[in-house]
Amino acid sequence: MQYYSLNKNAPNVSFSEAVIKGLAPDRGLYFPETITPLPASFFENIEKLDHIEIAYQAIQQFVGDEIPENELRDILADVLSFDFPVVEVTDNIGTLELFNGPTMAFKDVGARFMARCLEYFNKNNDNHVTVLVATSGDTGGAVANGFLGIKGVDVVILYPNGAVSDIQERQLTTLGQNITALRVDGVFDDCQEMVKTAFLDTSITDHQQLTSANSINVARWLPQLFYFLFAYKQVKSKRKDIVFSVPSGNFGNICAGIVAHKLGMPIGHFVASVNVNDTVVRYLETGNYDPKPSKATISNAMDVGNPSNFIRIQELFDQNFSSLKDQFSSYSFDDPTTRDAMKEVYDLSQYVCDPHGAVGYLGLQKHGLQDNQYGIFLETAHPVKFLDVVEDVLPIKVGIPEQIQKVLDKEKVFTAIDKYEDLKAYLLDRQK
Ligand SMILES: *Cc1c(COP(=O)(O)O)cnc(C)c1O
Repeated sequence: MQYYSLNKNAPNVSFSEAVIKGLAPDRGLYFPETITPLPASFFENIEKLDHIEIAYQAIQQFVGDEIPENELRDILADVLSFDFPVVEVTDNIGTLELFNGPTMAFKDVGARFMARCLEYFNKNNDNHVTVLVATSGDTGGAVANGFLGIKGVDVVILYPNGAVSDIQERQLTTLGQNITALRVDGVFDDCQEMVKTAFLDTSITDHQQLTSANSINVARWLPQLFYFLFAYKQVKSKRKDIVFSVPSGNFGNICAGIVAHKLGMPIGHFVASVNVNDTVVRYLETGNYDPKPSKATISNAMDVGNPSNFIRIQELFDQNFSSLKDQFSSYSFDDPTTRDAMKEVYDLSQYVCDPHGAVGYLGLQKHGLQDNQYGIFLETAHPVKFLDVVEDVLPIKVGIPEQIQKVLDKEKVFTAIDKYEDLKAYLLDRQK
């Protein structure tokens, strides 16, 4: 399988090169040259297949022959070692829980898959890669956990001071080994900007291989398509068209869902549910793509003003605005509405949504469900990750799961920086 750059001004590359580079030299996102639908029998028999078999069949064409079958199956068994249940919330709405992994964020699957692929590519050489990542909260923890102890890989995480929760900060500052946390005096956009500047800085990249573990990296992005197949397997017997509502920030997760659809998975509709960062909602209304700086909300993992994967979604719809609008909608909700939705779901069914899941629920409500449709909203984070909001809004105490308890007593270790030159000095100093 070859990948091309969406900026169309760089050579095609293999899967391993796309993973190691992250972004193409022309700054474009990599995109698979072909997406071949799976045989109809795959979907007819999906309830008989286990998660690893489903994942293997779905991802194999994107990896090609660069990872042998037995190795790829081992990687998937490792990555998918927890559950992805669809939990019924009302008669016609369920939630797909993606938060049962080691950091309780849905990014665990993508981060671990990318880490295991890089580990495989580095097995028989002395290559060295630095994963540079900006986080608004959850990416950092999932990446730190996924890459811990991986040979030939160092991870440098930038996060905004005061804008991530205490639990999130502990998840990315307490692991040590090959993981370094840099606390930036600024907001998430500043972190992202510094990372982008570093990728373009030849005084660094001439000497070091930098890559990204954000969802622009194909190995972080593509495995997310498994979630949609796992959900389909669980609700197929309802014989209804599924409307997926995906709480969206950089739009990587929902974009992977559309890839699952391209693989032949029957689907009713996609809803991208967002907070007040509504660039895509405005685009679908006006046809004018006009990104704005991000605004802070209680669903902070979606505080993205210029969603990096939206361009991949446009490519999946052949850059055709009207076919995109046929199958894809997007709705925006503010914080008070999100809090009300958390209460509504709790009153209806005692189900505890985190703020991101609540935005997903709202998207289904706003879109509306016909009799022949079943709605699934994705729960992208465990409520414990947003403890302050959840306990403030709902009359409950959230129990602390074991994997969170483990980091709570550990001491945070980070280096404080406030400008790009600090990051550059840090990266160059390590070489010495
Ligand atoms: C990253 C994240 C999102 C947004 O996912 P995208 O793929 O960037 O759209 C939503 N919810 C949570 C909890 C996240 O961590």
